Amino acid sequence: MPDAPAKILFSDGRAEAVHSVLEARFREAGIPSPRTEASILLNELGGCSPLQLFAAGPEGGHLSPGILDRIARAAERRLTREPLQYILGTAPFRDLELEVTPAVLIPRPETEVLVDHALAHLPACGSLLDVGTGSGAIALAAAQERPDVRVLALDVSPEALAVAERNSLRYRLANVEFRLSDLFSAVEGERFHVICANLPYVTREEYAGLEPEVRVFEPELALVAEDAGCALMERLANRLPEHLFPGGYGILEMSPPQTPRLQKLLAARGFRSEVLPDLTGRARFVAASLE
Ligand code: GLN
Repeated sequence: MPDAPAKILFSDGRAEAVHSVLEARFREAGIPSPRTEASILLNELGGCSPLQLFAAGPEGGHLSPGILDRIARAAERRLTREPLQYILGTAPFRDLELEVTPAVLIPRPETEVLVDHALAHLPACGSLLDVGTGSGAIALAAAQERPDVRVLALDVSPEALAVAERNSLRYRLANVEFRLSDLFSAVEGERFHVICANLPYVTREEYAGLEPEVRVFEPELALVAEDAGCALMERLANRLPEHLFPGGYGILEMSPPQTPRLQKLLAARGFRSEVLPDLTGRARFVAASLE
């Protein structure tokens, strides 16, 4: 008979005690920020903010058996290394709180920077194409922050597009549209002012060494690309000239070692390219403009 999954039992319902039990179990399991994750779970499921917890001191606030049970079940999932965002079903991105499921990559903070660059290059009432939209993060943030622009978002995964469409409904954004598309297949003959993409760029070798949260739970389709991680970005870069208006701007998220290869390819397609850093200062984006 398989072992019964480890059950978390809280010996008392005080929020403060629950927090310490969660923190200790997360730490034992090797979860990187055990204290913060314990606080987030208590906040999201138990309604105790870290500040309330702090103010309550050793007495803690009291949590009902139903809430304790929900917290315990969520914590047990987290102990299998399932990401907190899938357990809670949401992830923040810029001003949005997006639904996320295992059909989509959890939006990363570095990708928020890509939106800044894309918006800075979008003329008033211009058009933005987001290739490989996943949860819709880039497209929806852009559509929300710039109601004047028209946003089109593409993905090859129908399951991902269903999540993106639900996220769009959540914010009732009228200026964004989604299409099922293998890179540019659904936009033949169309041009845009800005094209952005956070395509899969992790190499097979890197993938094998990733944290279980990413490797086991996030969609491989959204992460891994052949050919040193460049296969899809190269396919996209090859077709970029025919989908940008003159003076248009393209921006790709990538990993730092891919920089020379992508810059060379873009130069061969007639682009001027620029490498831009993420929030930690690493080369994370390559931007291309047409003279
Ligand atoms: N930055 C992501 C990661 O390291 C990779 C995202 C991608 O492949 N587009 O998990």
